[in-house]
Amino acid sequence: MQSSLTPFRVAVIGGGPAGLMAAQTLAQGGAQVDVYDAMPSVGRKFLLAGRGGMNITHAEPYADFVTRYGKGAAPLRAMLDAFGPQDVRDWVHGLGVDTFVGTSGRVFPTDMKAAPLLRAWLHRLRESGVQFHMRHRWLGWRDDALLLNTPDGELLQRADAVVLALGGGSWARLGSDGAWLPLLAERGVGVAPLAPANCGFDVDWSEHFSSRHAGEPLTTVAIISTGADGKEFRKQGQFVVTQGGVEGSLIYALSAALRDQIAADGNATIHLDLLPDLTAQRVADQVARPRGARSMASHLQSRLGIKGVKAGLLRECLSKERFADEGQLAQAVKRLPVRLLRARPIDEAISSAGGVRWDALEGTMLKSAPGVFVAGEMVDWEAPTGGYLLTACLAGGQAAGRDVLAWLGRS
Ligand SMILES: Cc1cc2nc3c(=O)[nH]c(=O)nc-3n(C[C@H](O)[C@H](O)[C@H](O)COP(=O)(O)OP(=O)(O)OC[C@H]3O[C@@H](n4cnc5c(N)ncnc54)[C@H](O)[C@@H]3O)c2cc1C
Repeated sequence: MQSSLTPFRVAVIGGGPAGLMAAQTLAQGGAQVDVYDAMPSVGRKFLLAGRGGMNITHAEPYADFVTRYGKGAAPLRAMLDAFGPQDVRDWVHGLGVDTFVGTSGRVFPTDMKAAPLLRAWLHRLRESGVQFHMRHRWLGWRDDALLLNTPDGELLQRADAVVLALGGGSWARLGSDGAWLPLLAERGVGVAPLAPANCGFDVDWSEHFSSRHAGEPLTTVAIISTGADGKEFRKQGQFVVTQGGVEGSLIYALSAALRDQIAADGNATIHLDLLPDLTAQRVADQVARPRGARSMASHLQSRLGIKGVKAGLLRECLSKERFADEGQLAQAVKRLPVRLLRARPIDEAISSAGGVRWDALEGTMLKSAPGVFVAGEMVDWEAPTGGYLLTACLAGGQAAGRDVLAWLGRS
């Protein structure tokens, strides 16, 4: 064991939120930290996350918060206990950025942006001695040294410990291309294939429908779907019709179950409740009211306010006969079947599932590669949008940093 006075060097590969949090924890623990990233700058996905309003964590009760990680809740629990939603907020505040809780319980930096936060964080990291090496792509190991491709050619680098925080497999142009997966598999690390998470789905819309309604949001609808346990569940929210399918927050929230259902059955049928605030009886009563010479479409609009994309969906998904039949039409308003064919490609997804399997890990260290630790989205957990992704990445980065310090006898 090294003396606590001997300098020690830790390589962090990947400068996303997980890697940067590992670097912070290690620097605070006295390590000389080198962050290597394949891209010209760090935190590119973090910055993109800030473009539409950075949702850094969630303010719901902690007992509910942890359940959002599904199967990953158990293995993530210790990390989240050590660095949970309140710790995330305290950390943001410590960087001089305020936060606020939105109406949905989501927590945002006051200006909704990621850039000021990242700037302050990088400044703090540099001050604490962290060295950044951009355009350094990790290619695996050679003779037990890290093999890095740099603008000056190949570099072999040794370190007392390594943290891999290479991200998942979505938005490859921001750096997280999943190319690490076969490198770890070759080294005997158990990995689950990467799969899209928080993703849209393809639907075989007719040209007539998609040319009229692509891009239109469906505000306040509910989706009724069947879970892996065979039980039906419903969730209310919003989504958007796209040229070839559906996307948006309500779809993302259900996407893990829908993706798995498609993998098992070849497709997945969701049912839409187009008027979730009205009972089936009320809808049936309104549809059954006399409509005189009015068309069914204008009857639906005047009686129930159904128009635009909602009306288009009814026309798209029902046969002419069912649309003309008042009873069947009323039922469809509350339960319209839409068949999802496949998940959109992983590169378009907000995040990815799969990655380093938990049974390949001892804490955050790879069992088959002692001294190599992993953090962030590259580990096999997934979560919905709502700040859960970043919270777990930050928590995982801190856990990896602490595990390194403990492994090197420095904590
Ligand atoms: C559009 C969008 C919006 C999002 N919004 C939110 C949000 O509001 N809230 C939220 O919680 N989450 C959000 N996310 C998800 C969140 O940004 C990610 O989960 C998070 O960035 C993952 O962190 P990470 O550190 O694990 O990986 P990443 O942030 O992906 O970082 C991985 C780093 O590793 C580097 N790297 C990869 N391979 C190599 C290699 N071989 N050698 C060297 N470097 C390598 C990459 O260049 C990259 O810098 C959003 C994602 C997207 C795409």
